[in-house]
This record gives sequence, structure tokens and C-alpha cells, in this order.
Amino acid sequence: MEITVLTIFPNMFDSPFAESIIKRAMDRHLININIMDIRNFTKDRHKSVDDYSYGGGPGMILKPEPIVDAIESIYKKDGNWTDSKIIITSAQGKIFNQKIAKKLSTLERIIFICGRYEGIDERVGQILNAEEISIGDYVLTGGEIPVMVMVDAIIRMIPGVLGKEESAKSDSFYHGLLDYPHFTRPENYRNFKVPEVLLSGDHEKIDRWRMKQSLLRTFIRRPDLFVDRNFSEEELKIIDDWKRID
Ligand code: SAM
Repeated sequence: MEITVLTIFPNMFDSPFAESIIKRAMDRHLININIMDIRNFTKDRHKSVDDYSYGGGPGMILKPEPIVDAIESIYKKDGNWTDSKIIITSAQGKIFNQKIAKKLSTLERIIFICGRYEGIDERVGQILNAEEISIGDYVLTGGEIPVMVMVDAIIRMIPGVLGKEESAKSDSFYHGLLDYPHFTRPENYRNFKVPEVLLSGDHEKIDRWRMKQSLLRTFIRRPDLFVDRNFSEEELKIIDDWKRID
């Protein structure tokens, strides 16, 4: 997958993309991340990327020309990718989640545009047919951190990026449920003991306990995740057992 990020603060990406799983995925050529400085596509001598808001009001707006020119320079170099998407980071966009991450992870190319100040000139999204995505109902200073969040979540979904030990399949949301609780050594820590079943070596029992915990946690913490769920037979059996407890 080819990931391109358009930003006016390219240095912000130096460290987050140079560590751990993202770095490993790049080293193994599973992804390539290209950070583009929007300022390099300005034409005036001050390299202006922003301007005042039509109609007045506080705050500056990112100008459309350098952003559209930057994207067109990519198309000129690489051609129009069919299996691609342009995403504008925006607090007003569709809320990012695991389902979106999974879907985006199947694309060949994603171009992210990081907003700043009061945002990006509205016409950029229309001209580029871009989708606005938000990482939650709060306002951040810029789109760089949202891009880091999304890239991390997306690349974890690309086959081969995670080792077996870090498999995403048991993570929260992958199958629409929260993850079960995890424990490591010591077995007894400050009188809090690891659940006995996990020490039993009986893998069938352990799997069932984990599934139960997963369902229970989801029910208590995120009952909204149950609304559209197609429960498996085994899950329904566990829920049925709960109903029998008086
Ligand atoms: N005036 C904008 C509004 O009220 O929707 C907020 C602008 S914000 C200060 C600057 C930029 O940060 C936005 O253009 C966007 O790129 C990014 N941003 C802020 N909050 C975000 C969020 N929750 N998700 C994604 N991007 C966000």
C-alpha cells in the first residue's frame, strides 16, 4: 500500500513513523509512506499556504491551490490509481472505526490531507472527490495526529504486517466484540490472582472462558456493539447459560 500524507508540518511524522510496527512494515515493503510538504507546491515567494476567510471571522484557511497541485503532481507521476482514496481529516467527517480501518487496508493507495487553522478551503474536497474522516467528537489543532492514528490502525489490518504474536484477530472490535482480559506473571500480585482456568492448560476451557469474558465485557462496557451483531451458535449458548442464572 502506498500512503501519501499532505501536511504543512512534515517533521511531525519523523518519529511516529520511524518506530515499531510501522517501521517494520516499511522495511518489509508492505507499505510505503510518503510525507509531502504542502509548502513545496506554493508559487509565491512567501510560500503561503493559508489566507483569510471570505466573509470575515478569526482564523486562517488552508488555500486550495497548493493542495490540489500537490495531488495532481502525484497523478502526473504515478497516474490515476483506481483502487485509491483521498481522505481529508476533519472533525466534521465520518467517525473512524475498526470497520473503516479494515476497508481502507485493502486499498492500493490512500492520500491523507491534514487540515490546520480553521480548516481547508471547502472546494478542495469537491474538486478531489475526497472523503472527510474524523477520529472523534473533539477538535484538535491539526490533522497530523488523526493521520497517525488512522495509519496505525489501517496498517495493522494489512496481512503480514503483524507477527503471529501481535495478531489483530483477537483485538477488540476485530470481530465486533471487546477483547478478553489478559494476565502475565506473577501468578499472584498483591493478592490479586490470575484466574485459575488460565493456569489449567485446558485450551478448550480457556477459549470458552475468554469468549465468555469478551461477551460479558462488551455487554457491560459497550452494549451498543451488540445491536447489529450476528451471534455465533457458541456465543448464543453462553448467553443462554447466563439467562438460566437466577
Ligand atoms: N473549524 C474546524 C471545525 O470546527 O470543524 C476545526 C478546525 S481544527 C482547529 C484544524 C484541523 O484539525 C481540521 O481542519 C482537521 O484537519 C483537524 N482536526 C481537528 N479535529 C479533528 C478530528 N476530531 N478528527 C480529524 N481531524 C481533526
